[in-house]
Amino acid sequence: MLRNDMLEQWDRENFFHPSTHLGQFARGEAPQRVIKTATGCHIEDRDGTKLLDAFAGLYCVNVGYGRTDIADAIADQARELAYYHSYVGHGTEASITLAKMVLDRAPDHMSKVYFGMSGSDANETNIKLVWYYNNILGRPEKKKIISRWRGYHGSGLMTGSLTGLELFHKKFDLPLTQVIHTEAPYYYRRNDVSMTEEQFVAHCAAELEALIEREGADTIAAFIGEPVLGTGGIVPPPAGYWEAIQPILQKHDILLIADEVVTGFGRLGSMFGSLHYDLKPDLITIAKGLTSAYAPLSGSIVSDKMWKVLEQGTDENGPIGHGWTYSAHPIGAAAGVANLKLIDELNLVQAAGENGAYFQAALRNALSEHANVGEIRGEGMMAAIEFVADRDSRTFFDASEKVGPSVAAALLEQGVIGRAMPQGDILGFAPPFCLTQAEADEVAEKTAKAVAKVLG
Ligand code: PLP
Repeated sequence: MLRNDMLEQWDRENFFHPSTHLGQFARGEAPQRVIKTATGCHIEDRDGTKLLDAFAGLYCVNVGYGRTDIADAIADQARELAYYHSYVGHGTEASITLAKMVLDRAPDHMSKVYFGMSGSDANETNIKLVWYYNNILGRPEKKKIISRWRGYHGSGLMTGSLTGLELFHKKFDLPLTQVIHTEAPYYYRRNDVSMTEEQFVAHCAAELEALIEREGADTIAAFIGEPVLGTGGIVPPPAGYWEAIQPILQKHDILLIADEVVTGFGRLGSMFGSLHYDLKPDLITIAKGLTSAYAPLSGSIVSDKMWKVLEQGTDENGPIGHGWTYSAHPIGAAAGVANLKLIDELNLVQAAGENGAYFQAALRNALSEHANVGEIRGEGMMAAIEFVADRDSRTFFDASEKVGPSVAAALLEQGVIGRAMPQGDILGFAPPFCLTQAEADEVAEKTAKAVAKVLG
């Protein structure tokens, strides 16, 4: 086995890490951690430090670490057939079975699933399908995509544009011109503190209508949104939000893309966020929870309505010019089949709802009295604590004070991983669904200590 100091040196010298301060990392000023193994909700690094991972990696290891059923399915698949492509009608038992399993779980009006590798590439696929759809329908001008500020949809060219977070645009010449952003459904951060939740929903709807009016409905193809805002702050929608938004989209013949990369396969305590909030999307993006990240795999679930037009398109133009070498990779598909079976066998969707409710209550018990805790919010196994300088006037801290990152660091010192969300002083949690009550209590207690250390 390589020595730790050697690995750490190679890491600094050779490895370009995503979402990392490159200069500080290369100079040895930013921390590094080499992960060795993991089981349940705990990861362990090469120094033997064990950490309770209350963010399930990047909200993806939904069934928890170390599931041998999935590892065995991957190994068996690799031995039998490590790879074959899925172009021109090729498939494997795993990819065909998984497509059926996904459709069996998806809302009834969905028709087919296209498999990719990451959430970003699945959303790239979605935008191409939307453009293709409108071209086939003879509406070449109807191409713009509406996304929300604080939405997160990936970090490719188009998907980084859809993402409504400044960090993902700055110095990358993004967003691309086809993408336009509208108000985030973020009641706690609304501009006018006197607005009721109901008034705020009406305001979001009015902003959307105004944007459509300004741009012209005949130029707008689709609206993309996460059922619950994720990386933008872990924000469940205000009551009535989706009920207000969907009719506007229908009225203007604008497709709805539900980005369920985080919410798909149980995180909210329902199989899909679309079922949880009664959405009727034309496309659903899936990734993380599809395999619980045991292998990279994503998907675009296509509705009946869109599928009919895609078929018409290939009848008129020949085979669809879209595909990745690794679409429906057999190893990813085998991981997906084993993962979805495990979720059923262990009743993990229901567990996510119940354990999530317990976890959120534990956070509230431990933290809601603190003067700098502005809001504790969540849905299922997604939760967040937002810190404020003053609760009554809802004055936020200046970003330069780094309150969120400092609390996350103080929590990590005690062996618990939470995530400082990238915009605002928000500590996010999205644990594996199998989080026990003792683990939930531990996260809550240690978070309270971390908050006390940083904010008094
Ligand atoms: N969509 C959502 C809602 C996400 O949260 C993410 C990643 O966090 C993505 C898309 C992009 O997925 P990936 O990082 O696999 O490209």
